[in-house]
Amino acid sequence: MHTVYLSLGTNLGDKKQNLLSAITEIARRIGPIKAQSAFLETEPWGFESPNTFLNAAVCVETTLSPLALLRKTQQIERLLGRTQKTILSPQQGSRRSLPTYHDRIIDIDILLYDDLHISTPTLTIPHPLMNERDFVLIPLKEIMK
Ligand code: AMP
Repeated sequence: MHTVYLSLGTNLGDKKQNLLSAITEIARRIGPIKAQSAFLETEPWGFESPNTFLNAAVCVETTLSPLALLRKTQQIERLLGRTQKTILSPQQGSRRSLPTYHDRIIDIDILLYDDLHISTPTLTIPHPLMNERDFVLIPLKEIMK
């Protein structure tokens, strides 16, 4: 079993329900929840929006590998209705993601995975920006042993 810490955030719709639904799906698809922080209301970080965030952190036990875990968290984001902001590239006629911060129904970040340190194009653990963000650190400190 691996011990994983996840950060959750939402600033659209029924935010409390979004976090509760995400936690239910995490327990169902990733593994048992060992600890769950209180929900914390925070201001948008890195962009302007009238919609405040509700944030939380959870500790989960899982048998999934880091990449399989990322696929599951992304599956849950899609399931709960998160859509990636996309633009149409006129040259290629293809859709690509805008690497910007924006309003979201649910965002799930992998903060820690055991004592693992990895840095790949798709996955960096520990999450590179976690130490700069109070909305991540405050819930995380609440549940870390
Ligand atoms: P975001 O829009 O903030 O959810 O960022 C998602 C992108 O960050 C995905 O394409 C992931 O591949 C990448 N990513 C890199 N490291 C992590 C991590 N530790 N947790 C979640 N996403 C990550």
